[in-house]
Amino acid sequence: MILVLADHDRGELSELSLQAVEQGRQLAQTSGVPLHALVVGTGGSAAAASLGAYGVATVHLAVHDGLTDYAPAASARAAAELVARLAPLAVVGVGDQRGNEVLAHLGAITELPVAADCTSVVLGDPTAVVRARWGGNLAEHALLHAPVALVSVVPHAVRAGVPGNGVAAVEEFTPELADADLLVHVVDRTAEVGGGISLTEAKVIVSGGRGVGSAEGFGMLEELAGLLGGAIGASRVVTSAGWRPQAEQVGQTGTKVSPDLYIACGISGASQHLAGMASSKTIIVINNDADAPIMSHADYAVIGDLHKILPAVIEATRAALA
Ligand SMILES: Cc1cc2nc3c(=O)[nH]c(=O)nc-3n(C[C@H](O)[C@H](O)[C@H](O)COP(=O)(O)OP(=O)(O)OC[C@H]3O[C@@H](n4cnc5c(N)ncnc54)[C@H](O)[C@@H]3O)c2cc1C
Repeated sequence: MILVLADHDRGELSELSLQAVEQGRQLAQTSGVPLHALVVGTGGSAAAASLGAYGVATVHLAVHDGLTDYAPAASARAAAELVARLAPLAVVGVGDQRGNEVLAHLGAITELPVAADCTSVVLGDPTAVVRARWGGNLAEHALLHAPVALVSVVPHAVRAGVPGNGVAAVEEFTPELADADLLVHVVDRTAEVGGGISLTEAKVIVSGGRGVGSAEGFGMLEELAGLLGGAIGASRVVTSAGWRPQAEQVGQTGTKVSPDLYIACGISGASQHLAGMASSKTIIVINNDADAPIMSHADYAVIGDLHKILPAVIEATRAALA
């Protein structure tokens, strides 16, 4: 069987989690084995109930006082228990920070190698993976010599499956956890001001750099993002200047994104920025410098002053949506 680590937030499975489930489902189908999922934490029953629709045959629901919220080492300990008991062909995790952290702990506990951020996985002996490295600038082909392949799926490499009528069997278990497994756990939550669509999950990102000129300048980007159902991104210059919150920074020291559409406004395309967005499916650049480095990554480019171009784009978008 294939085991997917189905991350969720108080019962709600994220888009990225459903992508990992879909990768697991495809591997299970190719290998002719069932798909199982591990779910931990508060709201786990709700998450477990929805997983059947995405092809999961059995959900293992870990129930433990130490597993009410995100606790990476403890989650990995629960996963390791299942790996020992059920001997899956592969364990598939979500390729975000949480998923990769749990997988790293699982690799350490089980002494199995981990291939993080995969764009392709072909199970076998050895398992062949392609991994997105350097923010998607490099596709690394690697072979995984291991009895159980521990892999995570880079965001948006796989599309989430379409829910069907399946119903998963749910089996509760209580993992054996030591105090050392619970050293890292969530103690408090603070709601993000503004909320909105998360950067990692957004299919469209309207991103701004120094060329936007001011915090107020982002009003245009917000308007366009609103029309397109997208999120706002920013370069480090912008977050360092305090024009936008750090959470919106895209790049090597920010968030790595791979949306369907990335609109880069007034961003030069420094390597540290490219490391976070170069794997976006379509990149539109608005920049007044035809020689800016980001141009070599652009699918479409508009050369000119973004303060004149963006209002026209907003107007045309509004007209197209009317
Ligand atoms: C260790 C390290 C980590 C880093 N991590 C990150 C990171 O995670 N993310 C990140 O973004 N950066 C990161 N940086 C910073 C990075 O090197 C660049 O300094 C930064 O990305 C540049 O931001 P920018 O493109 O907004 O600004 P600039 O490089 O100044 O580019 C501004 C662009 O806007 C254009 N422009 C100006 N006015 C207009 C206008 N009116 N209309 C249209 N275009 C206009 C200009 O032609 C130019 O191309 C990091 C740097 C270091 C050293």
